[in-house]
Amino acid sequence: MTTAFGQSTVLGYPRIGANRELKKAVEAYWAGAIDAEALESTAARLRAEVWRTLHDARLDAIPSNTFSYYDQVLDTAVAVGAVPDRFARLGLSALDTYFAMARGVDAEPALELTKWFDTNYHYLVPEITPDTVFTADPAKPLGEYAQARALGITTRPVLVGPATFLLLAKGDDPFARLDDLVEAYAQLLTALAEAGVAWVQLDEPAYVADRTPAEIDALRRAYTRLGELTRRPRIFVATYFGALGDALLALLDTPVEAIGLDLVAGPDNIDRLAAAGPLGGRTIVAGLVDGRNIWRSDLRAAVTAGAIVAGLADHVAVSTSCSLLHVPVDLSAETHLDPTVSERLAFARQKVDEVVLVGRALRDGTTRLPAPLPDTPTAWRNDEVRGRLAALRPTDRQRGDYAVRAARQQERLGLPELPTTTIGSFPQTTELRAARAAHRAGRLTDADYRQRMRAEVEHVIRLQERLGLDVLVHGEPERNDMVQYFGEQLDGFAATEHGWVQSYGSRCVRPPIIYGDVARRTPMTVEWTTYAQSLTSKPVKGMLTGPVTILAWSFVRSDQPLADTADQVALALRDECHDLESAGIRVVQVDEPALRETLPLRRADQRTYLDWAVAAFRLATSGVADGTQIHTHLCYSEFGEVITAIDALDADVTSIEASRSKMEVLADLAAIGYHRGVGPGVWDIHSPRVPPHAEVVEALRRAVAAVAARRLWVNPDCGLKTRGYPEVEASLRHLVAAAAEVRGS
Ligand code: GLN
Ligand code: ZN
Repeated sequence: MTTAFGQSTVLGYPRIGANRELKKAVEAYWAGAIDAEALESTAARLRAEVWRTLHDARLDAIPSNTFSYYDQVLDTAVAVGAVPDRFARLGLSALDTYFAMARGVDAEPALELTKWFDTNYHYLVPEITPDTVFTADPAKPLGEYAQARALGITTRPVLVGPATFLLLAKGDDPFARLDDLVEAYAQLLTALAEAGVAWVQLDEPAYVADRTPAEIDALRRAYTRLGELTRRPRIFVATYFGALGDALLALLDTPVEAIGLDLVAGPDNIDRLAAAGPLGGRTIVAGLVDGRNIWRSDLRAAVTAGAIVAGLADHVAVSTSCSLLHVPVDLSAETHLDPTVSERLAFARQKVDEVVLVGRALRDGTTRLPAPLPDTPTAWRNDEVRGRLAALRPTDRQRGDYAVRAARQQERLGLPELPTTTIGSFPQTTELRAARAAHRAGRLTDADYRQRMRAEVEHVIRLQERLGLDVLVHGEPERNDMVQYFGEQLDGFAATEHGWVQSYGSRCVRPPIIYGDVARRTPMTVEWTTYAQSLTSKPVKGMLTGPVTILAWSFVRSDQPLADTADQVALALRDECHDLESAGIRVVQVDEPALRETLPLRRADQRTYLDWAVAAFRLATSGVADGTQIHTHLCYSEFGEVITAIDALDADVTSIEASRSKMEVLADLAAIGYHRGVGPGVWDIHSPRVPPHAEVVEALRRAVAAVAARRLWVNPDCGLKTRGYPEVEASLRHLVAAAAEVRGS
């Protein structure tokens, strides 16, 4: 058996299939249309395709157990026996217990879903209690290893590492259980070794964030223990999404045979490695090809960086910076992209070729590498936009005094105390989706489509009037997605046809690509908003997606700082705000649900990010008159480090998710002296449940106790697009009635 790591690898590969086959199969299983056996056979076919693809591309170290029916963190929870009792006792099959944890069943809500580090992927949060009994369940990694072996392909099973697993878990001090958990990993590793596994990959990305000395010590202890096992595969600890810092030294104290470093997001890793002293024959797996973005690599620069690592370590392997889970499957499926754009792109399949080439060039020094791409085409430059940005002054990001604004706005809006509103979208019914699909396919003319959408806007306005809401919305029926909608209308953006990326479970997104200077050709939302306003005398709130969220949910050009691209987007939004205002719209909401998720993992980098993020939002929203009310909406209730940034956005009203956290966020806002309008969500829209009237009243009373009533707004937690009309009507009725009741008391 060979024990060398190999020369080239990827840390993971998309598992959804080139045509989202996994999504379709899993959803068919949930709907009862196919059985477990049919689902498993699709899964086996998809896995085999991935291994063959990697093998045929001449990658010589191939991962397995990167397939998942839902999520790799959930898979790891199962592999260590961390199935909470509340699911185990349902008495379901292993597969259905798994899906019950992922999606919930009637009696049991699912595990919590949350963002995977600073990506747009969501994992299921393990629930660990002081009496969770960890036991190894190696069936899945062993099964995948055996399946690949049967195809003649030797693989390296991948698991989330024990320290990261617990750092991501929730419960009563989960990390205190590390020593117990490591014993389950020890059993897993022994079982893998007995099946002939030569290498295992344990992912520890949690260590590219700031960690306490105790947490770093625990990492050292865990891998010392695993390293001392007499029967085990060789251990590759993979890290990604940033630089490892002090944790690198801790890993070097242990017997692990390979360490993976992200040299794209964490170039500092090289200096750390150089300073670390002798590496003791270890393999350094150099993440030289960006696994997060979709641009072709500069292969010569990658080889140069690889050569530096090779000068420090006895063995170097080339890899992607992180799993390719975060990029679309195959560029060759895109036939409609502008060739000047597509020649600059690499999706997962293309990135594998890049890794192989860099690996080969590093070894033989003679492999010819494709020339780097020429500079950004001048056609993608927009000198007018650049000129405007260069001429900006600090006052362009500043509104007038809040007290003056608030008075002017109230004069124009005449709102009651505790005004009621919604976050923007109303249910996206099957008919609406069908109309959009028909329009895209050319089966519905532009005029008919517009008519259909106008009818929907009218329906939504009438409904809100009937319910008695104070600030109305048009309902966003024309928007497929809050980023894509703007991307389709702005210069500098390209849309893919098949560029799907897993977001969570069976849910995939198709992020647009920002390749050039961003500019607005024509107004993007004015027609819909003014049409809605023409139907009612109540104020209608215009609805835009903020610059940070547009960047966060797109693939962004890497040839200029993010801050510059954010400002270009902000300028387009500023013009849109201005046009809405000129058309008589008195309230504009600029959504920033992604403000927090893109926060850098290391505290040292957060200030810079928040500075440009806030500056871009303010550029977008400061061009309006004092009497125009700017709202923003944020989709989380624990602000952590971004709390002061929320104040700095200087929006007149901030609506936030708050119902699940029982309004805790209001205390956080009070603590930093936030003094403008706030709309804590009083209805958790993430489930179809209708909140009873009394519950909304209670939430509101709690809010009134924390915030002066004149600053308080009444709204749901988020948009209503995933809900159905019956529950929306009932819930909004309760919300309006509760506001009236609390207002009168
Ligand atoms: N205005 C958007 C909506 O209501 C906001 C969505 C979001 O916060 N993610 O759907
Ligand atoms: Zn939201």
